[in-house]
Amino acid sequence: MPWVDKDGCVGCGICVEKCPVGAISMEDGKAKINMEECIHCGTCHSACPNEAVRHDSEKIPENVKNNVEQTKKFMELCAKYLGDVKEKGKCLQRMIKHYNKEKIVAEKTIEELEKLKEV
Ligand code: SF4
Ligand code: SF4
Repeated sequence: MPWVDKDGCVGCGICVEKCPVGAISMEDGKAKINMEECIHCGTCHSACPNEAVRHDSEKIPENVKNNVEQTKKFMELCAKYLGDVKEKGKCLQRMIKHYNKEKIVAEKTIEELEKLKEV
């Protein structure tokens, strides 16, 4: 999924013109992608002269950090609202389960998508 590195974007508008479905607009002089409309064609990556349209994989470290931070927050809130410090560990276990489920969904989805290559 594409995203715009605001520091690299100079607001030239080339990606806005090139996007085949009009999913990119300008906001405060920077390109902004509407992910509801984006069809993942990849055109904006090659169109940007400043390499400001970046790839999703570059956000992996940030995504992991956010997930860990969110889990820590939930652990604290579980302990607070349920009035027992032991709830932290239970919450942590639930979040691990949640991310395991997400992993399985991703793996199974990839398996199904690989099958599309055969049709
Ligand atoms: S083409 Fe690149 S620099 Fe130009 S508006 Fe789009 S993201 Fe910004
Ligand atoms: S990937 Fe394609 S559809 Fe999505 S924003 Fe870029 S140019 Fe538009």
